Amino acid sequence: MRITKKVFNDLAIWMIGFGVVVGIIFPFFILSFGVSREIAFSWKFITACIVAGAIVGTVNIVLSRVVVAKRLRLLTTSMQKVQAGLMRGLKGGDMSDCTPEKCQIKVDSNDEIGESAHAFNCLVDALSNSIASERALLGYTEMLTSNLELELLARKALSIILESTGSDAGAILVEKEGEIIPCETSGIKNYELLKNNGLIMEVLRTEKMKITKLPQDIVIDGLLVDFKPREIVIQPVIYNGIPIGAILLASAENYDHENINRIKMFSQSMALALHNAIIHEQMQKLATIDSLTGLINRRYGLVRLKEEFSRAVRSENSLGVIMFDIDHFKKINDTYGHISGDRVLAHIARLVKSILREGDVVLRYGGEEFCAVLPGASADDSFKTAERIRFAVQESEVLYSGYNIKVTLSLGVASYPEDNIQNELELIKFADEALYISKETGRNKSTVK
Ligand code: GH3
Ligand code: MG
Ligand code: MG
Repeated sequence: MRITKKVFNDLAIWMIGFGVVVGIIFPFFILSFGVSREIAFSWKFITACIVAGAIVGTVNIVLSRVVVAKRLRLLTTSMQKVQAGLMRGLKGGDMSDCTPEKCQIKVDSNDEIGESAHAFNCLVDALSNSIASERALLGYTEMLTSNLELELLARKALSIILESTGSDAGAILVEKEGEIIPCETSGIKNYELLKNNGLIMEVLRTEKMKITKLPQDIVIDGLLVDFKPREIVIQPVIYNGIPIGAILLASAENYDHENINRIKMFSQSMALALHNAIIHEQMQKLATIDSLTGLINRRYGLVRLKEEFSRAVRSENSLGVIMFDIDHFKKINDTYGHISGDRVLAHIARLVKSILREGDVVLRYGGEEFCAVLPGASADDSFKTAERIRFAVQESEVLYSGYNIKVTLSLGVASYPEDNIQNELELIKFADEALYISKETGRNKSTVK
């Protein structure tokens, strides 16, 4: 059916015409009420009836214009608002004026106009969902392409997925050396239980999403915190036909079709990035230099320490080892963000290298734990060096996005031959024990074993 421009004109012709016809018929009708023929068929009376009919028709058309057109105009204005909002949104602009709450029309009638308004509201909802999906996916893909570190990638991906799917808890798992390991979790009480979990293994084997409705399934019961989940979804992440990980999500509500599709979309987009991050981590392990700090990594560092220890024994020389760890480093990450934490790590590496002598070796022993190997340094020399490092770090600061970040170190010192040490691993062990004492006795201090 076509909607011509003349709907109200047509209506006017029909209504006025009908009024006139009623006016013509009325004199005949009035005869049955005992009015005489002379009066009923007098020109005056007939003209009055026709005019009255025409007036009623005209008033009807005016009223219908007022009543109907006003509501139609409301629909039109809302549509125009949505259209303008969409155009702004497409150009990357602000869409806060065009949320479903602001654009939807209040409907409490179920006639045709009410139905149109209801259909319009559904359209607004569908548009808003699709825009939200698109935006979430866009932010998500941008994030995926700019993060190569597995842990960071998993953390950011999980937070976006949780938010976009309305999930209350979740985990990203990856396959490492044949084992399924949770890489990042949120809202999960005992994430150790996720390791090689039977359900997740099954999903990876079948390569199909698994939706478990609770509380029937007791396998996962007791795993989640703070809420009673209704549904748990496990979606495999498949790269090039090979399952490389999984996304696990739990929600207190049932997942609708929309969200299930989103989860699938997220896992598809994640596959390549996750694959790259896993490869990156493997390469890092093989490499000798830690890319963040430029220091040699633990693996290669321990080889160097062994060499230095043998040399010290052979040449009857001293060998000092300082283990040090940043105090309350977690707080730095939590307060200023992970990137600022990375900056602090790089800053400390630079500072320590500048203090040590040529021939000394610094290694990044763990996350925020370092080890300095000092050939020729006695226990006393090593302790003095440890204190120099401690003081330099205490006095320095890292400028990051307007903040002056300050940290302190706890250090532990051990040395050969003073500590009656048999091999290089004992040097590390003793220095670590001394570091532990520094931590236990107030931090920002050096302890000699
Ligand atoms: P303590 O004084 O007892 O050492 O407290 P802490 O907070 O430093 O110790 P904890 O071991 O609880 O936290 C270490 C933190 O270091 C947790 C981890 O997220 C963070 N970390 C480890 N490696 C990195 C890294 O490469 N970059 C950043 N930004 N943070 C890291
Ligand atoms: Mg620490
Ligand atoms: Mg530590």
